[in-house]
This record gives sequence, C-alpha cells and structure tokens, in this order.
Amino acid sequence: MLNYSALMRALDKNIRYLVIGDPVSHSRSPGLQNAAFRSANLGRPYARLQVDVSDLPEFVRFAAEHLKGVNLTVPHKHAVVPLCDEISQQAKLCGSVNTLNIIGGRVLGDSTDGPGIEYALFKEFGFVPGAKKILFLGAGGACRATAFHLALRGADSIIIANRTVSKAQELAKEISRNSSCNASGCDIADKTQLKTALAECDLVIQATSCGLKESDPPPIDTNLITSDCHFDCFDTIYKETALLKAVRACGLRGAGGKQMLIGQGAASFRIWTGIEPDITAMEAGFEEDISQEDTVC
Ligand code: NAP
Repeated sequence: MLNYSALMRALDKNIRYLVIGDPVSHSRSPGLQNAAFRSANLGRPYARLQVDVSDLPEFVRFAAEHLKGVNLTVPHKHAVVPLCDEISQQAKLCGSVNTLNIIGGRVLGDSTDGPGIEYALFKEFGFVPGAKKILFLGAGGACRATAFHLALRGADSIIIANRTVSKAQELAKEISRNSSCNASGCDIADKTQLKTALAECDLVIQATSCGLKESDPPPIDTNLITSDCHFDCFDTIYKETALLKAVRACGLRGAGGKQMLIGQGAASFRIWTGIEPDITAMEAGFEEDISQEDTVC
C-alpha cells in the first residue's frame, strides 16, 4: 500500500518530482535533478520513492493529482505504459516509459533512455549511430529503448545477444520491421557468433544486469575480444565492471553508464520545465553522496 502520510509530508516540503522503482535507494537521480533545479532557481523539488509493482496504478493516480513529473526505473517502465493518458511515439514504439509529465491532471508518458544513450555515446566516444554496426548484450528494457532509438537514428545493423534467445530474436524482428536497420538476435553463449560479431562491430553496448554486483563476472567470455576487434564499449551500468576492465586491457575504449543517466535526466528536465539544464551542475550532483534527505519512503 502507498505510504500516503510520507507522501503528504513530501508535498509539504514542496517535493513535486519523484523517481520511483523497486529498489530505488541506489538511484542517483535526486542528486543530479536537484542540481539542475537549484541552478535554475527552482528549489530542491525532487526525491526518490520505493513503489511496489502492485501499487503502481494507485501511485499514478496520486501523481496525476499532486505531482508535476516522475522518473521510473526497474521494474515499472513497461507496466506504466497502459496507465498513461497519452504516450509519445518513441515510447509507444519501444514499449517503455521512463518519464511522466503531468499537465492539468493528465499523465503523458515519454522515454528519454534513447536520447540519453545517444548523448552519452557522443560525449564518451564522439560516436554517431549513422551507418554503424552495433552489438547489444542483453535484451531487457534498457536494450529495447536504446536499440530502437539507435536504429531510428540510422544504425546500419544491430545484433542483440541475449541469454533468452527468443527475446533477442523477437526484439530484432520488431526493430527490422519499424526501421531500415538490419537487426538479428543470437545466443549470448554462442562463442562462434559472438566472436564474429565482436570482430565486425563498431560499438558494444552492455545492457544486461551483470556487473551490478562487484562480484559479477562479465556477461561474455572476454577471451573472444582479440586484436581483430576495433569497437568502443559502453556499459549501461555506472560502475567499473569486469567487462570494461577486460576491454581496456585489450587497448579498446570503454565507458560506464554515468553519462547516459545524465543525458536521460537532462531530457526529462527539458520535458518538465522547457528549460535547458545546467549539465555541469548535474554532473556534480551525480557525484554527491546518496542523501537520505532525498528519500520519501
Ligand atoms: P531488465 O529488463 O531486467 O533486463 C535484464 C537483462 O539482463 C536481460 O537481457 C537478461 O537476460 C540479462 N541478464 C540478467 N542476468 C544475466 C546473466 N547472469 N547473464 C546474462 N544475461 C543476464 O533490465 P534493464 O532495465 O534492461 O536494465 C539492464 C541494465 O541497464 C541494468 O544493469 C541497469 O542498471 C542498466 N540501465 C542503465 C541506465 C543508465 O542511465 N545508465 C538506464 C537504464 C538501465 P534474460 O532476458 O535472459 O533474462
């Protein structure tokens, strides 16, 4: 059940924006969003809230009445789609919403993960998707939103390697149907296919949840990364993962997911306020300690 008394206390403190998830205590969004709001003289109106999947419909009704904006993380991005009054074309295509914009009690859903990764890839590697070959590891929500976006931005081919092969193949079919990108799916454990894909691609995007824990092994056999490879590697996790270490040891460029979070957060901020956010302030806000002050409940 939603904790209404904590939510009402938050409203009294002028909280009007929330990031929700389960879990959500690790989220860096309050630090970076409040830095952008402060820099625009708009106070400190953003906090995090743990919401169980079963409470999502009730939360969306509360948000429509009392809030201005929401970010959503695992496991809500897909489940929230039918609860919105309207969703953007991009969110409709990728079946994922990470931003709610609330105007006059109406809930408008959008997806900023795609623009976020495009921003990050350019910032980290000067990478633009046009005519590029991309290998995705993982086929969950993050892959879905970002692969669709990069396909629509002109990527030449996308291979999706996943543990559950059928998920990768279905997503690849949808991407091929809705864009001019040539997409296919394969088994992440198929060393022959993976070796060829690694040697041919311009970019590897690590979008599995392997690496969230310090002890997690890389999602692929890193012996497959050889001197034939020329790719840049972007890991959506914002930590130094085992995969990034292996890639750098082979002399290739690697970057973690921090800039993606900043890019998607900046896009959400623009949707809510119509103001260009102070990115330098957001970067400093990301580095702030996770403050319990920013937790509603
Ligand atoms: P998700 O929907 O739960 O998907 C998880 C993916 O990881 C699935 O493809 C799953 O494969 C795969 N996986 C899980 N454990 C695995 C293992 N042991 N070996 C191989 N594959 C495994 O999660 P998501 O929303 O896509 O998020 C994925 C990652 O992206 C997370 O680490 C998240 O932190 C990150 N992310 C970062 C940002 C950012 O701004 N930087 C934004 C969004 C997400 P199966 O399909 O076989 O289960």
